Amino acid sequence: MTFEIHRLNFGSVFIDESMRLRGIPPGHRIAVPAQGFLLFGAGGPVLVDAGYRDPSVLGAGGEIGRGQGFEEQLAAHGLEPGDLTCVIMTHLHRDHAGHLHRVPMSVPVVVNRSELGGACTGIQGRAYAKDDLLHLIERLYTPGALRFLDLEPGGPGETLFPGITCRLSGGHTPGSIGIVVDTAEGEAYLCGDLFYDVEGALRNQPRDGFVAGVQPTFLVPDDPALSNNFTTSVVQEMRAAKAARRYRFILAAHDDPGVLEGGRYVGRILGDVVPGPVTPAGPDPRGSER
Ligand SMILES: [Zn+2]
Repeated sequence: MTFEIHRLNFGSVFIDESMRLRGIPPGHRIAVPAQGFLLFGAGGPVLVDAGYRDPSVLGAGGEIGRGQGFEEQLAAHGLEPGDLTCVIMTHLHRDHAGHLHRVPMSVPVVVNRSELGGACTGIQGRAYAKDDLLHLIERLYTPGALRFLDLEPGGPGETLFPGITCRLSGGHTPGSIGIVVDTAEGEAYLCGDLFYDVEGALRNQPRDGFVAGVQPTFLVPDDPALSNNFTTSVVQEMRAAKAARRYRFILAAHDDPGVLEGGRYVGRILGDVVPGPVTPAGPDPRGSER
């Protein structure tokens, strides 16, 4: 069973550019989209991720423009929140779980149990928004409103519908998941925040963390570069990033979808629909060894 994936934009998030890739010096603020994805196909429509509820939860580090409201983004596809089959969360950070309270309790929200568990320990402070977590606890005590996945390292994935399988990501947060979606042109991997810069991660050489005055070092050309925002270990993050290269499309929450051939990044999709026209990447800066 194949799906067509439509990108939604729930507003901008302002981040330091250094968050996108390790080794980029801090001090340059950029805006990235807080995306969700609608999956259209048998069993759908399914929503993946739900933006942030208000710029205040980002410390004013965001802006929701005209037409970027939750209901508005769904209405642009002829949908109301109650029309969704379910909402799958890659993880529960404040820029992803913000609008779940706008989804009727009759529509289940699908969450990896360890992600909600970790969020509620406060170990990442306000990376998780209190009101978002309170709403999820409300769902927990409302039969049918919450569905847990129990994805653990090395364990099998869980297929929600034919063509939609959830796996533990292994990256970004310990409970983050990746969602593998069959499309007419191969598998898409909705990876949440495993990548902030898909092209940069898969085409730039990996480098160590930024140290003022010290040139980043480049060692292993085959390794992907990592983002600067994860709470897994570096080894776990590397393993997760490498595993993502098996898919045809990589859909990160804050970047354009990347397109891969045989594990190599070959371009991006600038349009709103995946599969869709591909804008080819330039020459591979790593040369021909990849
Ligand atoms: Zn995010």
